[in-house]
Amino acid sequence: MICKSSSYFRRRCTSGSRDIIDLDEDDPVVFDLFLKWLRNPDPPITYNPDGQSQEPWLSNSAAAWILGKKLRTTEGFKKYALSQFIQNCALAAFGPWDTIEREAPPGSPLRRFSDHWVAWNCRLSGSGANEFTGLHAALRAPLVPENTRDPRIYDIEHWYSSCGDGMHPGCIHDPITRQENIDEANRPPPEPLVEWGRSFELQRTGLPPASDHVSPNINISHALNTPAAPASPSYPTRPTASRISVDDKLWFSLADK
Ligand SMILES: [Zn+2]
Repeated sequence: MICKSSSYFRRRCTSGSRDIIDLDEDDPVVFDLFLKWLRNPDPPITYNPDGQSQEPWLSNSAAAWILGKKLRTTEGFKKYALSQFIQNCALAAFGPWDTIEREAPPGSPLRRFSDHWVAWNCRLSGSGANEFTGLHAALRAPLVPENTRDPRIYDIEHWYSSCGDGMHPGCIHDPITRQENIDEANRPPPEPLVEWGRSFELQRTGLPPASDHVSPNINISHALNTPAAPASPSYPTRPTASRISVDDKLWFSLADK
């Protein structure tokens, strides 16, 4: 089972392989996490703002991802380890950010998340020393846009995509943008404005309505050559000034004569 889940162990199992990785430094607890995951390969967890994992995942998820990289495990284990790290990264007493910058290459999913987290926190902290001071990603703090997101809320596929390199929101993995698009699609169309003015009056008196494709001058000439409609006791309330267009004002001035 372990050979199927790790190309390192698969090569070690074949005769003549001299591919050796020193695992002496790796905490047995972390290796045990890998073995337990192999027996029960859970999918990635979804970030819960009110939750936290139990130990040993709480403090060892980044180390588990790095072990997965060394052993060249299937992506399933590393993705699960990354999801655990995203869930718990704010709770670690001593964040593994320095180790991540050393062990996780730029562009890798763990490094993309770490870079975003570090830069975002440095921007929120403002100037002055903090736990991220000295990290390479801390230099990116001035590049964090005003509307950037908490990186923990993105779909985990964001960190496996090139959009995970930037810090601007709006990609398909951003749940806030997704919800805004759904709300926009479900918004009812605006109520049409009540029609007032020349078109309304011409229609009311049985004259052909004004066309949007006819110039105002032609319509005004039409109104000049047309006898004024007799006064009616049911004459509607005149439109408010804010609703009268220039053409309407001209029409009313002509109608009053
Ligand atoms: Zn994305």
